[in-house]
Amino acid sequence: MAQRFVRIQTTSGQVHYGLLHLDRRVQVLDAPPWLHGQPTDQELPVEGYQLLAPCAPSKIVAIGKNYLKHATEMGGEVPPEPLLFMKPPTAVTAPDALIYYPAQSQRVDYEGELALVIGDRCVDCTPEQARAKIWGYTIANDVTARDLQRKDSQWTRAKGFDSFCPLGPWIVREIGVSALLQTFLNDAPSPVQSAPISDMVFSPDTLVAYISQVMTLLPGDVVLTGTPEGVGALQVGDRVRIEIEGIGSLENTVTSRLTAETGLVSTTGS
Ligand code: MG
Repeated sequence: MAQRFVRIQTTSGQVHYGLLHLDRRVQVLDAPPWLHGQPTDQELPVEGYQLLAPCAPSKIVAIGKNYLKHATEMGGEVPPEPLLFMKPPTAVTAPDALIYYPAQSQRVDYEGELALVIGDRCVDCTPEQARAKIWGYTIANDVTARDLQRKDSQWTRAKGFDSFCPLGPWIVREIGVSALLQTFLNDAPSPVQSAPISDMVFSPDTLVAYISQVMTLLPGDVVLTGTPEGVGALQVGDRVRIEIEGIGSLENTVTSRLTAETGLVSTTGS
């Protein structure tokens, strides 16, 4: 199995990057792996840590309508150039953490996506140069308040709520060019989204190069590469699981803000 790079919080509250062993022990690294973190002699048993999102990005740059059939289901066409928007770092949440359904929305959708993790400062890159700046791959859910997205001409509100960017569970260095991306709701055996990542219109290298013509990408930054067709609504209480072949699966449960505030459920930080 490919090496799996994690970010964890220990039971005493310390945050570390680490390497996840097959038996779920974590070998602690002394820095993020893309900043050449080296293994320390600290090893944590499975009961000694909680998984966090596998990186802490300074920004999340996302791409709209990067799969033809999704652009069609949204009633549009694939844009002639990548369509960029951003999600704030505060939207990031951990594997198994809660997605909070905001009071302002009556329609919140899942969007399963391949996430790229940038390993090196990236400015004004060609696609060939950009390829070397992509350190690894993880899974994201670009949670979207669809009614607010349609209402606002900017997508900041619809895409930017706290907990609207589940990320993880870990980062792998390589992924197959046609890896299958699938999204499942609750215990349904059939996926609601299912497409190979090769269906993307603009490739990861092209996207990173394009973004780098606009803004500097920093180590640990995340690029969301767009969602395939089959987006749909989430309800409070739903579990949403996104699987990408060669990475693993990212699962989160939807809750209402009210429930969280009344302390009936625990939260997991990013
Ligand atoms: Mg999306």
